[in-house]
Amino acid sequence: MENLACPVCGCDKPKKIADIGITVFRCPDCTLEYVNTKKMFELCDVVTKTSMKNKQEYTDMLKSLEPLRISNNKKIIDRMSSFLPEESNGLEVGCAVGLFLEQANKKYKVSGIEPMEKSFEISKSKGLDVVHGYFPGNVDFSKKYDFVIFNDVFEHIPDIHSVMSSCQNLLKDNGFLLINLPDSDGILHKISKLLCRLGDQSSLKRLWQLGTESPHLYYFNSRSLDLLNEKHGFHRTGFLKLDSFSKNGLSKRLAAISMGKIRTYIYNIGLTLLFPALRAMYSDTNLYIYQKNNSMEK
Ligand SMILES: [Zn+2]
Repeated sequence: MENLACPVCGCDKPKKIADIGITVFRCPDCTLEYVNTKKMFELCDVVTKTSMKNKQEYTDMLKSLEPLRISNNKKIIDRMSSFLPEESNGLEVGCAVGLFLEQANKKYKVSGIEPMEKSFEISKSKGLDVVHGYFPGNVDFSKKYDFVIFNDVFEHIPDIHSVMSSCQNLLKDNGFLLINLPDSDGILHKISKLLCRLGDQSSLKRLWQLGTESPHLYYFNSRSLDLLNEKHGFHRTGFLKLDSFSKNGLSKRLAAISMGKIRTYIYNIGLTLLFPALRAMYSDTNLYIYQKNNSMEK
């Protein structure tokens, strides 16, 4: 039987916590949740290549998330203002169609790198400073930045250690690494794992973005992400809870995942009534802010 060592701490006795067409592991030491990266890509490749409907659903889901992204970006930029002076330069990894760049560039000088050709072309047409390619493979390491930011991207990249050491190399001394990602301690995630144990895999599959063009490979929380960062010479300086959905986008987002009308209606009411309180305790999307350790401290 497959037993995959934890990619963060190396523990080789992970627990299998779910089977959603692919095994989900949880590390008993650092609590990282993860899947076999290669298998995940194979699984998603087959689905996206054979199903146009799936591709359209994914595009619809991204579109429905735009209002949410814009409001989260605003929160992130407000927080950045408390520690990054205006005109600081930054790199956004996986800038998609450039929403964050457009908003952040009112204050900062941020460039982007984006692997998907269509998204790259859209951001380029907006006059943004964007490179087409993958991180870290296609990055120009001669440039140094005050900050590097990942918005809903970190959990999609296979080799997290090469990502982290590249960030070390790209950042100036005391530079900042900002990671905005879904959290395994979030309430939606907890409920989805419970539903999966009860036999309904659908929402957990959706959280892992199984069968889409860009599946999740990891679910971090504060413990596993702090440990990964400590291993690569960063320490945490800040944390910000973000919204996982906006009221505007919620109905569309639920409609986009084809759950059936009645079920969508029930989820919609339940989420609207209960979620503000639960989310305040267990946020599903968080921004973690790390600072590169001073080279003198090493
Ligand atoms: Zn671990």
